[in-house]
Amino acid sequence: MTTTTDTGADVRLTGISKTYGSFTAVHPLDLTVPQGSFFALLGASGCGKTTTLRMIAGLEEPTSGAVHLGDQDVTHLPPYKRPVNTVFQSYALFPHLDIFENVAFGLRRRGIKSVKKQVEDMLELVQLGEQARKKPHQLSGGQQQRVAVARALINHPKVLLLDEPLGALDLKLRRQMQLELKRIQTEVGITFIHVTHDQEEAMTMADTVAVMNAGRVEQLGSPTDLYENPRTTFVANFLGTSNLIEAEVDSRYGEEIVLKAGGGKLTLPKARCSAPTSPGGKVLVGVRPEKVSLTHADDAGEVPEGRNRITGKIADASFIGVSTQYVVDSPVCPEFAVYAQNIDRDPRLVPGAEVVLHWSPAHTFGLDAAQS
Ligand code: ATP
Repeated sequence: MTTTTDTGADVRLTGISKTYGSFTAVHPLDLTVPQGSFFALLGASGCGKTTTLRMIAGLEEPTSGAVHLGDQDVTHLPPYKRPVNTVFQSYALFPHLDIFENVAFGLRRRGIKSVKKQVEDMLELVQLGEQARKKPHQLSGGQQQRVAVARALINHPKVLLLDEPLGALDLKLRRQMQLELKRIQTEVGITFIHVTHDQEEAMTMADTVAVMNAGRVEQLGSPTDLYENPRTTFVANFLGTSNLIEAEVDSRYGEEIVLKAGGGKLTLPKARCSAPTSPGGKVLVGVRPEKVSLTHADDAGEVPEGRNRITGKIADASFIGVSTQYVVDSPVCPEFAVYAQNIDRDPRLVPGAEVVLHWSPAHTFGLDAAQS
């Protein structure tokens, strides 16, 4: 096993923005990436994640603001003077050099003569020790990407930037490489900042994810926090599926909010509501499909007290092995999705059946209807 001695660095962005003519690709952004973390910038194409990464790398001059790496202000340093390195989607390996020489390149350029041990250690880290004398075209896509990572790490950067590094790989290899990159990051212990549009990839790999939309960070948090407590409609819909019900604040009881939806009432913890909670306020009440239970309307009396509940009719049921995915048309939410485990599956739950959908207030979140 190989480890580098670098300890990584906090990356601190203070009010950085990027404007091209009259178009703002990145609005003023404050962001701190803790030392040694695996951080993902996640968002749809064009949201500004690559531009943000390139400003950290020094490949793009910010229109305003500052970039600090640890205590060092690097805002005006050229890329080669920053303790960072970047891995791109196009591996950009030298085709005429073998794998060993590709990885050794950065050391040789710095005039280091005895490179053997360092290169071998690095190839071992990315599990390519056996491939040292092959040329890039003799390796698979995933192996080539690992060479690119080794080449980027050989100069012991404090921060490794990864711009859609797995974008060119097929799905299976992508999944393998996600775990592989996570292992490498844990082993070297430096800060990784990874740009991706794939929410599953960001959730699998990163400790912290910044969800970007239209040049702004919409929400920052751990993958579970973002999934369970989305603060905006964009985040609720971008990370997985959310059922959203239009509701109106009825009253507040201590830490709970009671809302009116259709003819019924829904409850949610105040702490899970990012909308104003004064009576009459419009809130989108959300719940994830796997948090919802489905009970045939004939058994409605068996639904435990204290659960949020709405009624509806099953429009579609897809059996997918361990679970069934239902689509339920409810007067307060058309196409309400439910993912139910098939333990003790009720044979009456078929299209056309009248049902009660119910879930815990603790799994309910509230979004600002005015911002959606
Ligand atoms: P993708 O995943 O497609 O790369 P992204 O989220 O990384 O998207 P950016 O590459 O950061 O997005 O681009 C953000 C916006 O800025 C886009 O609308 C893009 O067209 C625009 N943009 C980027 N570079 C330039 C440039 N040099 N001149 C003008 N507009 C640019």
